[in-house]
Amino acid sequence: MSVNQQRFDAVCARAREAMILHSTADTLEWDERTGLPIAAGEYRAQQVSTLRALVHQRRTDPVYGEDLLSLVQECGDEDPHGPIAATIRELHRDWQRDCKLPTQLVERMSRATVRGQQTWDAARKADDFSMFEKTLEHVIDLKREAGERLSEGTDRSVYEALLDEYEPDARVEDIQQVFDNLREPLVQLIAAAKDAPKQPDISILERTYCMENQRDFSHFVAEQTGFDFDRGRLDETSHPFCTTLGPNDCRILTRYDPHWLPAGLFGTMHEAGHGMYEQGLRPDWFGLPPGSYVSLGIHESQSRLWENQVGRSRPFWEWLYPQALEAFATQLEGVSLDSFYFAINTVRPSLIRVEADEATYNLHIIIRFDLERQLIDGTLSVKDLPEAWNSRYQSDLGICPSSDADGVLQDVHWSAGLIGYFPTYTLGNVAAAQLFDAASDQIGDLNELFAEGEFRLLLDWLRERIHFDGRCYSGADLIQRATGKPLCSTHFVNYLKSKLEPLYGITGS
Ligand code: ZN
Repeated sequence: MSVNQQRFDAVCARAREAMILHSTADTLEWDERTGLPIAAGEYRAQQVSTLRALVHQRRTDPVYGEDLLSLVQECGDEDPHGPIAATIRELHRDWQRDCKLPTQLVERMSRATVRGQQTWDAARKADDFSMFEKTLEHVIDLKREAGERLSEGTDRSVYEALLDEYEPDARVEDIQQVFDNLREPLVQLIAAAKDAPKQPDISILERTYCMENQRDFSHFVAEQTGFDFDRGRLDETSHPFCTTLGPNDCRILTRYDPHWLPAGLFGTMHEAGHGMYEQGLRPDWFGLPPGSYVSLGIHESQSRLWENQVGRSRPFWEWLYPQALEAFATQLEGVSLDSFYFAINTVRPSLIRVEADEATYNLHIIIRFDLERQLIDGTLSVKDLPEAWNSRYQSDLGICPSSDADGVLQDVHWSAGLIGYFPTYTLGNVAAAQLFDAASDQIGDLNELFAEGEFRLLLDWLRERIHFDGRCYSGADLIQRATGKPLCSTHFVNYLKSKLEPLYGITGS
C-alpha cells in the first residue's frame, strides 16, 4: 500500500495553513516583546488568542484527523525516517495530543496561565508568595487534569505526559539517571572551586561597558560564528529569546547590561545558537515536521554549545580578544587574556537560575525538576512550596534565599503552565558537551580552528547531524546517531572539570 498523494498534499496544506496563522501570532508576540506601547497590551492579547484559537481549530479538525489516520495506515512501505513518513507520523501524533484536550480545558488553561503570569509578576514585585498561592494551585490542578487526559491509554505517568510536550518520548527514569550522575560531581566541583587557591577577578566584567559598543560587538560575534543576517535579525528585549516567523525569518533577542558584559555577549551567542538551529532546518519543509525542531532539549544543546563550548573556550578568545580590546579599550586596559578568560568562567553558587554559571545552573534545574514532579503527583502542596524550595537551596547549594522574590518566585515558568520544561535546559547542557566531543573526534582539532575564527566546519557538522533532519528522528535517536551512544552525563562532567580544575588550581579528584 502506498500513500495517497492527494490526501498527503491536502494534509500538508492544512498543516501549513495552521503554521501561517501560528507564525502570524508569533510575529505579533515578537512585536509585543520588542516595543509595544504599554496601553496596547490588551488588544494585542485578543489578537494573539484569536489566532491561537484558529490554529487549534485547524489542528483538531475531524476531516484532517481522518485523513491523517488513513495516511498512517497507508504509509507502511515508506522509510520511517524519510520526510513523508515523518510528516504523517508526527502530524498524527500532534493531532492525537491536541484532540485529547477538550477545547474548554484549553481555554481554562489559557485564562489561568495569563492570569497566573500577571499574579506571579505582582507577587514577585511585592516579594509575597501568598499572593500567588491560590493562582498557582489552580494552574497546577489544570495541568494535572491535562496530564491525566494526555496519559490516558499510554504507559506514561501524568508528569511524563506533560514533559512529552517539550521533550517527546522522554522518560523520567532516564532523565533521573542523567541528573543523578551529574549531581555529585557538580557539587564536589563547585565546593572545590569555592575553596580553591586561585580565584577570578570578576570586577573586570562589571565595569561600565558602553551599550553601543556592546551591540556592535555582539552583532559581529553572532555573524562570525554563523548566524545568517540575511535570514534573521538581532534585537533587544527584557527576557531574551529566539523565535522563527517564517522559513527565512529568524529573530533573536538579547539584553545588554552596562555593568555586566556577559549578559549581552553570551546572551547573544546563546540565542544565535538557537537561531542557527532554526536556520539549519529545511525551508522547503517549513510548517511541517521535517522542517521543525525536534525537542527543547536538542534546541538548548545548540544554544549552549555555541555559548559555552565555543564562547567560553580559550581558543575562541585567542581569536576574539584582540578585537575585544579594541571595542572596549578603556574597560579592558591592562587586563590579560588569562584574567578575562578566568572571569568569564567563574563558578559561584548563587540564588538566581538565569544568572548562574555553567556548573551550578544544573543544580537549579534539578531542584525544579524534583519539586514540580511532587506538585503534580500531589506529594507536595503549593502552600508548602516556599519551604521546600528554601530547604533544597540550603542542602544543594549551601545558600538560602532571604526572600521569595529571590527564591520560589524567580521564574515565570510554573505560572505560565510550563511544567516539564525545566529539565530540558540541563538535557541541553549535557547533550551540548557530548555533541561537541563527537564533533571534535570527527572533524579534528576544533581549538585550532576557533583560534583562527573558523567556525564553519563545526556549524556544517551540526547542520548535517542535527539540524537537517528536523523531526524525522527523535531527539534521543539524533544524539545516538551523531555521537554513537545514548545521552550520558560523562562528557559534560569531563568538560567542566578539564576547564575549571586548571583555572582554579584544583588538583584533579
Ligand atoms: Zn535557550
